[in-house]
Amino acid sequence: MIVLLAERIRFFDTTLRDGEQTPGVSLSPDKKIKIAGKLADIGVQVIEVGSAAASEGERQAIRLISDAGMSAEICTYVRAVRQDIDYAADYGADSVHLVVPVSDLHIEKKLRKTREEIASMTVEAVRYAKGRGLLVELSGEDASRADQDFVRRIFSIGVEAGADRLCFCDTVGFLTPERTREIIPPLRLAPLSIHCHDDFGYALANTIIALQAGASCAHTTVNGLGERAGNTPFEELVLNLEVLYHVKTGIRLEEIYSLATLVSRLTGVPLPTNKAVVGEMAFTHESGVHTHGVLRDASTYEPIKPEMIGRKRRIMLGKHSGTASIAAALAEREYHPSEGQLREIVNRIKVIGDEGKRVTDADLLAIADTVLNLEITPVLSLNQFTVVSGSNVTPTASVILSVKGQEVTNASTGTGPVDAAIEALRKSVADVADIRLEEYHVDAITGGTDALVDVTVKLSKDGEIITSRGARTDIIMASVEAVIAGMNRLLREKDEDRSKNRH
Ligand code: MN
Repeated sequence: MIVLLAERIRFFDTTLRDGEQTPGVSLSPDKKIKIAGKLADIGVQVIEVGSAAASEGERQAIRLISDAGMSAEICTYVRAVRQDIDYAADYGADSVHLVVPVSDLHIEKKLRKTREEIASMTVEAVRYAKGRGLLVELSGEDASRADQDFVRRIFSIGVEAGADRLCFCDTVGFLTPERTREIIPPLRLAPLSIHCHDDFGYALANTIIALQAGASCAHTTVNGLGERAGNTPFEELVLNLEVLYHVKTGIRLEEIYSLATLVSRLTGVPLPTNKAVVGEMAFTHESGVHTHGVLRDASTYEPIKPEMIGRKRRIMLGKHSGTASIAAALAEREYHPSEGQLREIVNRIKVIGDEGKRVTDADLLAIADTVLNLEITPVLSLNQFTVVSGSNVTPTASVILSVKGQEVTNASTGTGPVDAAIEALRKSVADVADIRLEEYHVDAITGGTDALVDVTVKLSKDGEIITSRGARTDIIMASVEAVIAGMNRLLREKDEDRSKNRH
């Protein structure tokens, strides 16, 4: 029987500090406050908002977030240096994550100091921080590669000096679950946090074992951002505790996906498509057997209910699709083919899948139209298209379209030629519908600069979503083709009469 010792597990989020140390990520104070606000709302107890000594921008972020009156404790990373602690206190933080190296490697090679010097620095810094009215979480850096007797000694003198909490940092992800179980219990000299890194893919497992072994707080980052391979992912830990260990975390689960997408958008780090819990494919089904099962009873192939974390199930079509899922996708769009027609549609979809392509909604509907012998007049078609781009020129696109038989001319600027082109198209149909571009994806099918480029877009109109594709050697034309194909699908749905072909 597995027992989690702490009655209530606490979450110390370090997305805005360790997560920001992800190579290439830098967050402005206004982005930080948006993420911090969402973290506080979702129920995280402590938010480490940055490193006070790093820059003036970091300090402004600490000030801004501390002044916002959030429910969470606002913490900042400091070294055992008076100036760092002064910054934390002066800019309004509630607490400090006071980090001292405890491995001989870090003590001798990084700081060129002795264990004795580290011990006296620790005592001095803890006392100073307490004197400045701060809560202190004392962290042993690189603790997993340290002499555990020395870690215990630092923790012990730290607590005597007034540290409120302790933290074991597996700075380079060196722990194994077995070792974690062994070394955590003797270190519970005060409420203990566990800080793990995923260099060997063990961050989540080590965190859970540490919580079982007596730690009461987990350091996490949203989407597992962080130095190198990242930290323990918040969303994975929460779902593990809730679903597999039956622990009530107090986290507002239904906000998890919107937190993940907010952090991905603001940091510019995309969510890996196959990532647990928040990856695009985590709730997408394609294979016929799985889809059939899920359509009958979702629990057959869904270990987590998508609604639980604010997501929706997606059925994707491809060569693995079965008749049931294709019929379901068609019924959603009001197509009701006969058995023979359905068989033909399934065959043609598998051909696209066999070519190694993703089957978009527009592909499915175009196939259905052909098989059902529907004659469709497109709502819009492209008559002329020009784009200007280069150095010292604002990218500008102009289009002449016919929209429901009327000629419409429009132009737009953009951040690049593709952006300008898509915006010009959007403006051209603005009178008819508010169509938005939700996703844009490019694949080069062959190598070289003359490669065939495959653009897939996801468009939405009043909550309705459609995917479509364009394939050309010209990336801008491929984008225009994809958007026009998608717009045609979104615009025709409403007033068209498909009843004569229903069966
Ligand atoms: Mn770290």
